[in-house]
Formats: sequence, structure tokens, C-alpha cells
Amino acid sequence: MRLSGKTAIITGSTSGIGLGIAEELAQAGADVVLNSFTDRDEDYALAEDLGQRHGVSTRYIPADMSQGEDCRRLIREAGRCDILVNNAGIQHVAGIDEFPVARWDAVIAINLTSAFHTTAEALPLMRDAGWGRVINIASAHGLTASPYKSAYVAAKHGVVGLTKVTALETAEEPITCNAICPGYVLTPLVEAQIPDQMKKHGMDRETVIREVMLERQPSKAFATAQQVGGTAVFLCSPAADQITGTTISIDGGWTAL
Ligand code: NAD
Repeated sequence: MRLSGKTAIITGSTSGIGLGIAEELAQAGADVVLNSFTDRDEDYALAEDLGQRHGVSTRYIPADMSQGEDCRRLIREAGRCDILVNNAGIQHVAGIDEFPVARWDAVIAINLTSAFHTTAEALPLMRDAGWGRVINIASAHGLTASPYKSAYVAAKHGVVGLTKVTALETAEEPITCNAICPGYVLTPLVEAQIPDQMKKHGMDRETVIREVMLERQPSKAFATAQQVGGTAVFLCSPAADQITGTTISIDGGWTAL
């Protein structure tokens, strides 16, 4: 139990990559705070189940990551934050000239500004505890661009910039900050798109994954939430003590192109 005694807060963690990271951190012995903007019985049940399976303490705290005050309350309510994973994110696809302003604002708020608020609130707790890890879930789109994803690409590049500044401001302390940049990850949301894509392109599952969905991912294989979680656990290990201010790509070679 390498991370026993540590508390990890993972934003946007009731599904997909965030839940995968929570699983891996809990398996490594960390107490875990799950978060999303909903306040349903199943959210609390998810946290309880995670805790029981891994023998760690877990909580669910509802907080809307599009709202600065909610971001800060999440950290305050948790009371302790040794590992902060800024994962909550949304996407909107449209050309710049017709991009709805409200969607732009929401993408920037949830994907980028939330990480500023949570980090600002968490750093004093990490300093008090004498150890901390900030792990920002950026994207291959934090390093490269695609058309029609202006807000997402801008937000993710911003997350990479915030990662570097956070690392420099904590460089002489036992605190690190890094960004994980996944390529295409097979989450339930992505899995659900496969039948539609098969129908649209008249292709079988394997071909639509290879030729359409993973067009830019040279490995022609999805990354998994478990792999992103495993990388987060590695960043919390002593082997990563001197890794700070950088990006780790899990993209099957996307950014090598
Ligand atoms: P997802 O939709 O499965 O999960 C997103 C999570 O964020 C959910 O738990 C959702 O409830 C939560 N969330 C959304 N809006 C919120 C809000 N206002 N307040 C609090 N929580 C909110 O998506 P995912 O694919 O698991 O993505 C997680 C992160 O990984 C995102 O930052 C995304 O940009 C990034 N990412 C995903 C991929 C991919 O291929 N899936 C690739 C690269 C990066």
C-alpha cells in the first residue's frame, strides 16, 4: 500500500478516465474523493463501493467545476489534499466563426479555470502536509491541434502552461506538478460512439476503429483509463520525485508524427 495515508481528490471522477484514475490510486492505497456536478444516490454508492473493494476511505463530494467557488469548496470540504488530479473536462466541436460563446466559456471554465481554482486551494494543504502531487489531465490536444476544437485545444494548451507555472512555483518544495496527455482513450462515452460510426461509414468495428477513430493514433490501439491511472500512480511514487513541469503522452505515437 504505497499511498496509504495520502488523500487523492479527482475532479470529474464518476466515469471514464477520472474513475479509472480513482481505481488505480485506491488500489495503491490512497484514500479517494470522487467528484462530479451531480448529487445522486448512485454517486455516493460508487464511492462506497470503491472504498470497500480496496479497503480505503472514500467520499463523494458534489461540486460544479464550471463554478470557481465550487472548485474551491471541493478542496476545503475534503479537508486534506495530498494528490490533486484535475480531470473534469468537456468538449464542443464547431468552427470558430459559429462556436457558441456559452460553450466556449463552459469548455474553458471546466477544462482550464477549474484547475487554477483547485490548485490554488490545494497548494497550502500540500505545504502543510509536506508533500504533494498535482496531476493535470491534459490531452494530445494540449500539444497539437485539430480543426473545430478551438476551445478544447486552447484550454488543454492552457492546462500545459498552468502545469509548468505550478511546477516552477513549487520547484524547491516536495511538491510536483505534471500533465498527462492521453490520445484517444476507450471510455464508455467513446465505446458508445462506435456503433454510430460503423453505420455512418459502412464499416465493421475493427475497420472503423482503425481507419476513422484512430486515424491519428499510429499504434491503432486505444489508450485505457487504467493506463492513465497507472501513470498517475507512477507520478506519486518516489521514482517521480524529480519529474515536474512536464507532459507525459499516452497517445500511441500521435505527437511523434
Ligand atoms: P467523461 O465524460 O467520461 O468524464 C468526464 C467527467 O467530468 C465525468 O465524470 C463528468 O461527470 C465530469 N464533469 C463534466 N462536467 C463537470 C462539471 N461541470 N463539474 C464536475 N464534473 C464534471 O470524459 P473522459 O473521456 O473520461 O475525460 C476525462 C478527461 O480526460 C477530460 O479532461 C478529457 O478532456 C480528458 N481526455 C479524454 C480523452 C478521451 O479520449 N476520452 C483523451 C484525452 C484527454
